Parts: sequence; C-alpha cells; structure tokens
Amino acid sequence: MTLFVELLHSSPLFFVILCGIVGLMVGSFLNVVIHRLPIMMEREWRTQCAEFNADAPSNNQSEQNQSARYNLIIPRSACPHCAHPISALENIPILSYLFLRGTCRNCSAPISIRYPVVEAISGILSAYAAWHFGYGIAAFAALLFVWILIALTFIDFDTQLLPDDLTLPLLWLGLIFNLPGLLNISGLFNTTGTFTDLTSAVIGAVIGYLTLWSLYWLFKLATGKEGMGYGDFKLLAAIGAWLGWQLLPLVILLSSVVGAVVGITLMIVLRQGRNVPIPFGPYLAGGGLIALFWGQQLTQTYLKLLTMP
Ligand SMILES: [Zn+2]
Repeated sequence: MTLFVELLHSSPLFFVILCGIVGLMVGSFLNVVIHRLPIMMEREWRTQCAEFNADAPSNNQSEQNQSARYNLIIPRSACPHCAHPISALENIPILSYLFLRGTCRNCSAPISIRYPVVEAISGILSAYAAWHFGYGIAAFAALLFVWILIALTFIDFDTQLLPDDLTLPLLWLGLIFNLPGLLNISGLFNTTGTFTDLTSAVIGAVIGYLTLWSLYWLFKLATGKEGMGYGDFKLLAAIGAWLGWQLLPLVILLSSVVGAVVGITLMIVLRQGRNVPIPFGPYLAGGGLIALFWGQQLTQTYLKLLTMP
C-alpha cells in the first residue's frame, strides 16, 4: 500500500495511466447513467402525476411497470434485443466492443458505437486531467468535474434535459472544492492549489445563473420563444462555482461560438428549420472543460492582446 502511494507521488506516468484506466471504467458506468437517468426521471414524474390524479381510474399495466425496481444498479445491463444479460467479460471498456465486433454475443444485434465512444472520451479526459493537475486532490476534483459534464452532455443531446440530480451536486462540489485550504492539505498531496477563491466561486455561481436567466427572459419577451432551459442556467452556475466568475465570459464565448458553428452546420446539412431545438448544455460543458484546463492562459493571452499598444 505504501509502495502504491509512493508510486503515485514519484511517477507521474503511473498516475496518468491509472486515472486513464479508472476513467475508462467510469465511462462504462456513465453509459448506464446517460441511458437510465432520463428513464428514472420520467418514471418519477409519472408516479407523481398518478398520485396527483389519484381519483382517476388507474391503469394496471403502468402500475405494474412502476413496481419493477429500476435504478442505476438494478436491473443488470442486458442486450436490448434479446435480453441476454451482459457478463463482466463482455463489459470491459472498449476491448469488449472490439472483440465482439460491435455485436451482441448471443443474438448478433449491433451495439451502438456510442458506448465505446463515451468510454474513450472519459478515459482520455481522465488521463489528461491527471497529467494536467498531477497527483493530488485537484486532480481528483477535476475527474469528478469531467465525468459529470460527460454525462450531462450526452443526456442533453438525447433528451434536451439537464437533470437536477447532476447539475446541483456539480454546483455544490464546485463550492466545496474551493473552500480555503481544502486542496492544500499539507504533506498528503503535492498540489497546484485551488481552482479559484471561495468568494469568486460564490459570485460565479450567482452570475452564471443570472446571465443565462436574463438572456432567457430577454429572448422570451422579444420573440415569445424559449431559447434554452432552466438546466442551462444551473449548469453555468455550477461552472461558475468551480472556476470563478472571472472565467465565465470565456465559457460563454467558447460555448456560443462552438454552438453557433455546429448549429448552423446542422441547419445546412440536415436542412433543419431554425425552430428545431438545439441543446445548449453540451457546448456549455465543452466551454467549461476548456476553461478548466486552459482558462487562465486563454484569459491572460486575451488581456495581453487587448492592452497591446
Ligand atoms: Zn442480444
């Protein structure tokens, strides 16, 4: 055990590889979260509606569906085509997909390329976070930030929802990890310090929320349409809590530019109308990740360019 900790301290490469492997395995779990969390939310809404309409004649079928337990652990993962339960050997991140050539071992139905892609993104970003921050609490915190943002990105792509179950914990974690001294527990970690100071984190959460909230209402009053959802406000509040208000302009700029480019491309390629909803969450998440790793440098470069004679 002491050898293990010594290795973590002395060998950056060991830490990077370890975090990459953990990232791959977490990516496998993120696939479950991305698939099941929206279904769990829908079931909860139905239960609440059923309770609200308790007087209405009940539908036996849906009541039976409700009674079957369904969460992130239960039931076990199975092939959606033949219900063949997926064994541990068939659940090794990326490798299983390659060995099975993207098909179910039992019925040969194709498995979505999305699963290994999410695992690969999680693995690569986790290894990069480990390399960027080095062994310490900052890296551990960054991993949580990365993982939650990956889940939010794909859930928003699929369902146009950013669940409170993810955005609110992300916000609290951002405030907690910026508590003075938390990332500098002496002796235990060699760390690069906090992400921002606590004051900037609290102001970041408030300004992050209010910025998009104001835009939403301006847009709604001007056009009568809803440009984004309350989940977007909470996500930018969470990013502000992690990185401080100083980086919010950069996050908004990055996500708007990427969002506009992707949105316009989709409009041209798919010939979609302008009224097709485009999720904003993935671009906010992308902007947040870029700002986490390179925010300070990008802002400094930008300010230097501004003050150049
Ligand atoms: Zn199957």
